[in-house]
Amino acid sequence: MGHDAIVVGAGIVGAAIARALARAGMDVVIVDRGQPASGTSASCEGNLLVSDKPPGHELVLAQYASRLWRVTAGELSDQLGPSFPAIEYERKGGLVVATTEAGASALSRFAAAQRDAGVDAREVGDPYAYEPELTSEVSAAVYYPDDAQVQPTVAAEALLASARAYGARVMTGFPVTGPVLDRDGGLAGVRSGSRTLHARRVVVAAGPWSAALNAKLGVSMPVLPRRGELLVTAPLRQRVFHKVYGADYVGAVESDDGGLQTSSVVESTRGGTMLLGSSRQRVGFDERLRVDVLQQIAAKAVHLFPFLRDVAVLRSYGGFRPYMPDHLPVISADHRLPGLWQAVGHEGAGVGLSLATAELVRDLMLGVPPALDAAPFSTERPSLLPHLDDVPERVIV
Ligand SMILES: Cc1cc2nc3c(=O)[nH]c(=O)nc-3n(C[C@H](O)[C@H](O)[C@H](O)COP(=O)(O)OP(=O)(O)OC[C@H]3O[C@@H](n4cnc5c(N)ncnc54)[C@H](O)[C@@H]3O)c2cc1C
Repeated sequence: MGHDAIVVGAGIVGAAIARALARAGMDVVIVDRGQPASGTSASCEGNLLVSDKPPGHELVLAQYASRLWRVTAGELSDQLGPSFPAIEYERKGGLVVATTEAGASALSRFAAAQRDAGVDAREVGDPYAYEPELTSEVSAAVYYPDDAQVQPTVAAEALLASARAYGARVMTGFPVTGPVLDRDGGLAGVRSGSRTLHARRVVVAAGPWSAALNAKLGVSMPVLPRRGELLVTAPLRQRVFHKVYGADYVGAVESDDGGLQTSSVVESTRGGTMLLGSSRQRVGFDERLRVDVLQQIAAKAVHLFPFLRDVAVLRSYGGFRPYMPDHLPVISADHRLPGLWQAVGHEGAGVGLSLATAELVRDLMLGVPPALDAAPFSTERPSLLPHLDDVPERVIV
């Protein structure tokens, strides 16, 4: 007798899925090779953004996720009580800022297209009323009231605690090394060395390591690690009240360029420190922090907020975004191996998109109509099919 589902990967995506399935009455086990929330979900920022997404399928998913976070933040706090650390959900709003005339017209066009897609994107006449410390060089700014943030590691832990309360089992120290196959060649569980776990469905939620995990299960999946680094300042007297980023950030998110890109993303945390992000670079799983990258991040943050020139940096860290070649996560049953499900490739938006991903997986598994069109996230979508047999370099670790 097996479980209804095994979720592999206890990052924020796997945690959200385990919670959604257990809450729907399924018998779920979530396994991780290490500790919960110890992968990318512990080395990222916690932005829940609609502002950085152009009209399209990812934006639709983000809009759905934004609504879910509003409800789920309250549910988690009610369910887990005051002794559980706060997930720090804050609907603080985002302010996107251009500092050149070309940047201003690009931002204005981008925001107009988003408005047509239902995003609340407000052109701002006086950006200094929002952020008094901004550079005097602002040429245009757009305010997005629906942008929010959470503390991502705590949010992942909270989703796991909630999943447990609904009956899910969490197993750590369980590196999946291979499949358990049934007589017909379908997936019937997973192996970790000589240990086996049986289930009719196995969900891959292994973040940037999903290509390696899929390879162990017998299929390819072109998820590549895309490095990102950040600086954290010492606690400051000054505050940045919104999530503020330079208009070039959107271009970096959408880009396929494997070379170094940095864009300015600045936000205050509840503890008074400021997070200064971020970079995008394809360097495999190389974890070294790079001075040239951190220098560029710092310079762009200072350009946006000149007072940052004199503040102390407390630390820096980096992580690996799970990058997909067609810039969309895969959230579906895998047509190539019965029993296998994918919840991978969320790149720089996995925290934000986790709850919507979980609802989609749950609805598809239960055979109920999902809240949004699932086809764009399928393993069979035309933009992914040509890449399915790519063997990504340097990802098998
Ligand atoms: C610098 C940076 C900033 C970011 N900022 C944001 C942001 O502001 N907002 C946002 O939404 N997203 C952001 N992201 C992206 C976000 O962090 C990811 O999309 C998200 O964390 C992915 O979550 P996950 O659960 O899929 O993967 P992970 O958190 O990486 O979890 C995967 C888990 O799988 C486990 N695993 C792997 N292989 C195996 C195996 N063989 N057996 C068992 N377990 C296995 C790992 O141990 C890990 O715990 C950022 C990323 C970076 C790097």
